[in-house]
Amino acid sequence: MPPTELAFEPAIPGQFMSAGGAQKKIILLKPRGFCAGVVRAIDVVRIALDLYGAPIYVRKEIVHNRHVVDELRTAGSIFVEELSEVPEGARVIFSAHGVSPAVRTEAKERRLQVIDATCPLVTKVHLEAVRFARLGYTIILIGHRDHDEVIGTLGEAPGSTILVSDVADVNRLNVKDPERMVYLTQTTLSLDETKDIVTRLLERFPKIVGPKTQDICYATENRQLAVKAVAPLCQALLVVGSQNSSNSRRLVEVCEKAGVPAYLLDDCREVQPHMLLDVDTVAVTAGASAPEHLVEELISHLKAKGYTDMEEAEIKEEDVRFTLPSDLESFTPRLYTVRS
Ligand code: SF4
Repeated sequence: MPPTELAFEPAIPGQFMSAGGAQKKIILLKPRGFCAGVVRAIDVVRIALDLYGAPIYVRKEIVHNRHVVDELRTAGSIFVEELSEVPEGARVIFSAHGVSPAVRTEAKERRLQVIDATCPLVTKVHLEAVRFARLGYTIILIGHRDHDEVIGTLGEAPGSTILVSDVADVNRLNVKDPERMVYLTQTTLSLDETKDIVTRLLERFPKIVGPKTQDICYATENRQLAVKAVAPLCQALLVVGSQNSSNSRRLVEVCEKAGVPAYLLDDCREVQPHMLLDVDTVAVTAGASAPEHLVEELISHLKAKGYTDMEEAEIKEEDVRFTLPSDLESFTPRLYTVRS
């Protein structure tokens, strides 16, 4: 929604002043919310429902957002944790976070009709893992152990890949051939923490190589840069996103690292009084899987709490789109408008 539609009515002078007399204000960060991979994944589910009818099975949460998953469940999707829960021969969608080759093999064995909604930027990391494993490299994968994306990437070359999550893990590394090492990363990590880990890797293994372009995706990077830029201007940050959303959690951490409290909320109902205590300026952003209508609801909620002044801080323009999987591309005229 354009920022003008979020413009506030003029405040009644003196009505909503902070204790110090200043008018309370919201800084709305941009870019925020849906990335191109999330838009594509949600489109895939909606188009599949339209084309083939309910039920459509989806392995894991299509994206890590409770509201998106609930909405698609209501529309006829059935979310499962494992393929064993999908009836033989049925249609199943793989989530934006990707799957390991073992899952693809299982799908083939069970004659499932697969539609792959893996984000192309995740697929890029999988292909790097396959390429370097074939070349005989030890792959150091920087990421979070239980994240769906990491489980999928690890599965591409399990015998050649070692997972590290922090500098301490790097200190413990013991590699057979330090001359042939590469590092890859999960797409949704903290830029700063990853930099620290890569610096330590280079100290310990000077011959280690990295990807040509970084694996942390544009959406993760841009949302973190926006938080960094605005943190000095606010006393609190509210991040719309679910607890299991990696990129959303990183936004909270980036802000806290800058010394400003930050809170991750599924929606405005989770705003607690202590989050706004002595806060004259509150910044608002959303993780890459959080729909814009939740941000709008949060803005309305804050408005009712007296944050009557608002400005949008655009750090970087974003115009990234991904094409649909080839088996759905010809059906784009049926494309739903994603509720963002
Ligand atoms: S956060 Fe990045 S990697 Fe993940 S779906 Fe979005 S664009 Fe793709």
